[in-house]
Amino acid sequence: MKYGRIYNFSAGPATMPEPVLEEIRDEMMNYRGSGMCVMEMSHRSKVYQQIIDEAEQDLRDLMNIPDNYKVLFIQGGATLQFAMVPMNLMKNGVACYVETGSWSKKAIAEAKKYGEVHVVASSKDRNYSYIPNCDDLDIPDNADYVYICENETIHGVTWPKLPNTKGHILVSDQSSMFLSKPCNVSDYGLIYAGVQKNVGPAGMVVVIIREDLIREDLDPHVPIYMSYKTHADNGSMYNTPNCWAIYCCGKVFKYLKSIGGLEAMYKMNLDKAKVMYDFLDSSKMFKGTVDKEFRSLMNIPFVTESAELDAKVVAATKAAGFDNLKGHKSVGGLRASVYNAMPKDGVEALVDFLKDYEAKNG
Ligand SMILES: *Cc1c(COP(=O)(O)O)cnc(C)c1O
Repeated sequence: MKYGRIYNFSAGPATMPEPVLEEIRDEMMNYRGSGMCVMEMSHRSKVYQQIIDEAEQDLRDLMNIPDNYKVLFIQGGATLQFAMVPMNLMKNGVACYVETGSWSKKAIAEAKKYGEVHVVASSKDRNYSYIPNCDDLDIPDNADYVYICENETIHGVTWPKLPNTKGHILVSDQSSMFLSKPCNVSDYGLIYAGVQKNVGPAGMVVVIIREDLIREDLDPHVPIYMSYKTHADNGSMYNTPNCWAIYCCGKVFKYLKSIGGLEAMYKMNLDKAKVMYDFLDSSKMFKGTVDKEFRSLMNIPFVTESAELDAKVVAATKAAGFDNLKGHKSVGGLRASVYNAMPKDGVEALVDFLKDYEAKNG
């Protein structure tokens, strides 16, 4: 591989598209005749305003975001949204959450600080290896929203179809599947995604929120920074934004458009994940941990028969130039994160390596 780079299966921060990194390198010392690096620019300058405006427009084009939705670039990562969502959307102080893994669990714990939380479905009974049936949830009439984590990064489960919210607003944490496939934004009241999984550098979250959910009448104790209105009214520049992350994400948005948008990306992701899952289904040594219909296209956890063998395989993959395959401690085993920017070649090379390992050690 070019530049001595390796196949990096990290769950996040994660691999980026090489053409994007090359473009960033080429613009590093002097961004388009400005005489400065983007890192050195005032966020109030014309040249930077164009960067953020284009980033937003390209994202709108990619996802076909309707005009009645705002796009916000906010700091604090996806974790800050665990608090901002209930602080801003709980009018009646009641919300429903579906518990499908570590990240929805964290969101639930945070939301409980602000109101009454109904966990309306959970897959805890089988260590979050599936998505519970959400066709007929017990949702109180006064619930302000229904919350899901659309792809559980640690447990490797994803939603084949969205829950029936019975007319309530749907809120989704899309951090680890953002832009991995087409998305019908009008199905949601609010979507957010920490960008370091599937888009760009860490330290920023993209929030897509329906305008009528942006409130004027928040509890006065809510910090100014934590109100969506603050960010919406100020074009994501109430304070200094994460200028660098916005610039890098903008490049990724353009790159995705250039390769055919989200439909094309989705096809590639299906194709890539299939290589890995076909192998897991045929292997005697390795097996996937998630029920088939809920398997993530982005995060693929798998195990051997023992923790000792898992550790040996992780060490062997690392020595062979495949990094970050150790599974999260709550699932154990291994995990291959195969986000948008992971080439199919990388997955094929990994599968070849694992096949060979199994043949020699099985
Ligand atoms: C990584 C992740 C988070 C937390 O993101 P931070 O940017 O570290 O706050 C939240 N939700 C999901 C689904 C994630 O994958």
